[in-house]
Amino acid sequence: MRAWVVRQPGPMAAGPLRLIERARPRPGRGELLIRVLCCGVCRTDLHLAEGDLAPKLPDVTPGHEVVGEVAEAGPGTSRFRPGDRVGVAWLAGTDGSCRYCRRGNENLCPRSVYTGWDLNGGYAEYLVAADAYVHQVPAGFSDAEAAPLLCAGIIGYRALRRAALPPGGRLGIWGFGGSAHLTAQIALAEGAVVHVFTRAVAARELALELGAASAQDSWDPAPEPLDSAIIFAPAGEIVPAALATLDRGGTLAIAGIHLTDIPALNYARHLFNERAVRSVTANTRGDAEEFLRLAQQLRLRVTVTPYPLGAADRALADLAADRVNGAAVLSV
Ligand SMILES: [Zn+2]
Ligand SMILES: [Zn+2]
Repeated sequence: MRAWVVRQPGPMAAGPLRLIERARPRPGRGELLIRVLCCGVCRTDLHLAEGDLAPKLPDVTPGHEVVGEVAEAGPGTSRFRPGDRVGVAWLAGTDGSCRYCRRGNENLCPRSVYTGWDLNGGYAEYLVAADAYVHQVPAGFSDAEAAPLLCAGIIGYRALRRAALPPGGRLGIWGFGGSAHLTAQIALAEGAVVHVFTRAVAARELALELGAASAQDSWDPAPEPLDSAIIFAPAGEIVPAALATLDRGGTLAIAGIHLTDIPALNYARHLFNERAVRSVTANTRGDAEEFLRLAQQLRLRVTVTPYPLGAADRALADLAADRVNGAAVLSV
């Protein structure tokens, strides 16, 4: 089968990815063999290719927003059968026994493993995934539309919850790509007033079309104080600016897995009056289920920029340069 691998992490211009032929994997106990139909392109894949995240497997295949069809169900699987349309997301496994897993925070499990980082992902014709961590894909979405729901959507949803948005609250969003454009729609459906900050002009247009109250450049002042903020851009220098726009008691959530250094904060200007800053670390299967149910109920509009599997390197270069509108998705 064809599969992309991270051969030598480095800037996209240096060609860190290779398209190779490798043997189709075989499903082990509790695993499904899945034929990939579409795979979303997430910023985390870019961090992996460029070396911001060290690969945990040599020649790892990236991709953790996989919509596919079960080709073979390994022994001991019970949830899915050959022919089922399924989704494979970022969280690929946990130990199920540590203190975090036992208290419902499996996203914090120190022994968790991830699709397209510890295990080969979906930039390929096939992958294997643990039956217990595979998701049902909501009906009413094409394969390409469903793919970005599986990380961009789920992580954005957790970030929104971590941002503790009060009912009818004012939410600021920095960066407006695959994840933010889905998260904004959930916030709007829940009655929020949404202000978007991004340097990409097409993304500002999309934000207004989806119902944002305002859309401006990353460094423009906020039109009003914010109750909650989410930073989707991997840029630490935005943190002080976002904190400074928070109203008393406001919360800032940082959605990404990687962030450049945060400049020094001033206690009075950025934190006093009980403003809080929180990280977002992966997601639980519960988050995924809640989000996928909501996505179907609200019939979220998914904006997709399609690429063939053979152009995964171009898709990542476009993502790095802010040239993707909505979410980039590979069709296999
Ligand atoms: Zn655990
Ligand atoms: Zn992701």
